[in-house]
Amino acid sequence: MPQSDHVRLLIIGGGPAAFTAGVYAARAGLQPVCIEGYESGGQIARSYKVENYPGIAKDVSGADLSNRIREQAEGFGARMVFDDVQSVDFSERPFRVVTNESEFSADSIIIATGSKARQLGLPSERAFDGRGVAYCAVCDGPFFAGKRVAVIGGGDAAVEEALLLQETAASVTLIHRRHQMRAGAILQEALYNAGNIDVLIPNVVEEILGNDDGVTGLRVRNTETNALSELELDGVFVSIGHDPSSSLFAPAVAMDSNGYIIRHGDSTATNIPGVFVAGDVADHRYRQAITAAGSGCQAAIDAERWLLARRREDVGSTPTHQLDSH
Ligand code: NAP
Repeated sequence: MPQSDHVRLLIIGGGPAAFTAGVYAARAGLQPVCIEGYESGGQIARSYKVENYPGIAKDVSGADLSNRIREQAEGFGARMVFDDVQSVDFSERPFRVVTNESEFSADSIIIATGSKARQLGLPSERAFDGRGVAYCAVCDGPFFAGKRVAVIGGGDAAVEEALLLQETAASVTLIHRRHQMRAGAILQEALYNAGNIDVLIPNVVEEILGNDDGVTGLRVRNTETNALSELELDGVFVSIGHDPSSSLFAPAVAMDSNGYIIRHGDSTATNIPGVFVAGDVADHRYRQAITAAGSGCQAAIDAERWLLARRREDVGSTPTHQLDSH
């Protein structure tokens, strides 16, 4: 039988948003529990080096950065639970959350489950992940300054990444599987006007080539002629979209058509009072460790204030003789 635990604040997630929420909530004395998931660390844990997190003067790996925030939260008394959430019931308070090994009831919740970059699904992609295969030009582009890179995808994100990379890379090739691009007209115009970005369409990646030092190239196939060709490259940015990790919370928690959880106004509140959201599961625009951490801080503050207001309401409605007995 799973054991049941009651907590004031339960944080679901295991990246910078969740752990930063843990730092703030623990410091505020909420004794939060954080269900960090078996793949703890978040998207940032895939980055082999992080240079743009404010205050970190030396290079640090994404996994190290995430772990430092985690340890900071633990240091203030947040309890980390290495487990995956199986189901939630937000239909009444206290909320109920079932994990593989336990069950929790909680007065408030912060959802910080992040998102996952879509993958091409090639064995060679996994083999070179972090050794030339990357999923975020803002995060990893500077490591490819002066090098030859390709961007895979034809949406807004792929074109933006190609435009960003061409400022520092030796060469940029955008590879897309169809003649039509999803990217908006203005971005497409900027892509073709950039002058130094090769656009290879309609082509799909058959294999990422490399050796012990990392990526050395790509084998691509023209989808019309089936002709194969090879490109010499140092890096590949796969930019074919992200999927927010939000399916656990549907349909109770309001989401947009892509599954991103909707925040109310300029707060981290969701459509369910007492349930807050932080990080990439609600953000398809910025997706940075620092923005995730910032929203984790906001969610913890929102949860703390909400819990305080609830306590005041409860005290206000408590008969005087019960208050006297405390
Ligand atoms: P997206 O719009 O879904 O585009 C994904 C691209 O990847 C599509 O071109 C798709 O090709 C391609 N693709 C998907 N799976 C693939 C596979 N297995 N192999 C090869 N190619 C594959 O995703 P996104 O560009 O990340 O954008 C997500 C959302 O954020 C969109 O709504 C976008 O407008 C928005 N966004 C906006 C901005 C901006 O306004 N500046 C910037 C970034 C993102 P097909 O076209 O053939 O399906």
